[in-house]
Amino acid sequence: GSASDRAFFGHPRGLVGLFFTEAWERFSYYGMRALLLYYMYDQVSNGGLGIPADTARSLVAVYGSATYMAAILGGWVSDRLLGDRRATLLGGVLLMFGHGCLALPAGAGALFASMVLIAAGTGLLKPTISSSVGDLYAKNDPRRDSGFSIYYMGISVGAVAAPLVVGTLGQTYDYHLGFGLAAIGMGLGLVVYLWTQRHLSTASSRPKNPLRLREVSRSKATCLAGAITCLIGLVAVSAATGVLTVGAVVNTISVLAIALPVAYFTVMLRSPRTTSIERARVRGYIPLFIAAVFFWVIQEQGATVIAQYADQSTDLDAFGFALPASWFQSVGSFVLIILTPMFALMWLRMDRSARPPSTAHKFSFALVIAGMSYLLLVLPALQGGLSSPLWLIGSLALVTIGEMCLSPIGLSATARLAPAAFATQTMGLWLASGAAGQGIAAQLVKFYDADSAGIYFGAIGAGTVVLGLLLLACGPLIRRQTETADRAEARLT
Ligand code: GLN
Repeated sequence: GSASDRAFFGHPRGLVGLFFTEAWERFSYYGMRALLLYYMYDQVSNGGLGIPADTARSLVAVYGSATYMAAILGGWVSDRLLGDRRATLLGGVLLMFGHGCLALPAGAGALFASMVLIAAGTGLLKPTISSSVGDLYAKNDPRRDSGFSIYYMGISVGAVAAPLVVGTLGQTYDYHLGFGLAAIGMGLGLVVYLWTQRHLSTASSRPKNPLRLREVSRSKATCLAGAITCLIGLVAVSAATGVLTVGAVVNTISVLAIALPVAYFTVMLRSPRTTSIERARVRGYIPLFIAAVFFWVIQEQGATVIAQYADQSTDLDAFGFALPASWFQSVGSFVLIILTPMFALMWLRMDRSARPPSTAHKFSFALVIAGMSYLLLVLPALQGGLSSPLWLIGSLALVTIGEMCLSPIGLSATARLAPAAFATQTMGLWLASGAAGQGIAAQLVKFYDADSAGIYFGAIGAGTVVLGLLLLACGPLIRRQTETADRAEARLT
């Protein structure tokens, strides 16, 4: 290709802008997340909201779930109405306001306002920016996998810095100051995006499957309007009658987080716009999706159960200074950045070998090792008292090795498998695996208790290892689906 097609470590120039935009967006998101649990359960006299810890854990989980669930909707808005670029920009602006809400000392009201804004903002930005990465490469460009690994480094650069900066500021000075810094970070991300977006593929500037007004039949429009009215009415009535408790919100989001991807897969498989080849690919993708869901159940507890374990059951003075508990949320991304070059070489070597590992193999490994990261915590938890920070660091390093085998590879596999008419929405669907994982976690974290933490880690860890082994056994089945699709495509072209 042209010089600009290889300008950034052999990758298209557009990747630089996406790398730094996403780094700043994740800086704001993970900065906020490093503080969120502590802000919720800390006493009011310390500047917190004084929410009971078990409710707080569930709320942090559904907060995260909502942000990734919105990605399917955001993907739809991009595919059919706005296109990736405009959706990314709009999302960034909403995110800035969302973090801005938390920067105001306005209590629980601001917390829920921020949740709506940050869900809408992440929903618009996250799938569209990921799909813009995919669009930098032609369908068969072998650089796509490594492109997504570089992009994932951008995610990690933001995610490693955020707890150190936003977390420290928020935990040692003032929560709202921390959240304010997150808003500023998002603002910087927007500046970077505005400055660099001209290098993106033209595919990113328009909707991929634009909605034509005459397509929208009157009955469909009436149906949609009716559904929205019902929903608003339902929320209003339940709020007025006192049914709309925090617990009810948590449970509703948990159910939706699982129902939404199920419904979405059904729509995609049955749509006349999906070709039979694409359909076989989607079927092969479903077990991978399920594996990802259970991986995120564990990984995303870094901001809930693990964050609480860091705060209350870990010896934070072990290294001779007062370690801020939020710093543990940097460990994973730190490990990821260090190991990425090694993994890049390893994949290169393995993919060239006689029996290259399939995506299903990598995902099974991710699940097994995520389970092991929890099993590792059984021992210190059973010992009771304050455990050495090294246990948590080891556990977080393990789960991150799993993340490297699943998350960047999942993004790239999604970009490749996506039916053309659903391009950005499929990215949203991939993110919805995180939503479902956190929807499930929102229920599981209710069972955590510092006194019985060993049982908690043991049960979830063992269950996840078993799931990983199950997926390994299903590998040949998945391969058959995608190979059928590849052969059918080869016949056509
Ligand atoms: N940690 C990754 C990110 O923030 C993936 C999160 C997820 O998909 N649940 O982009």
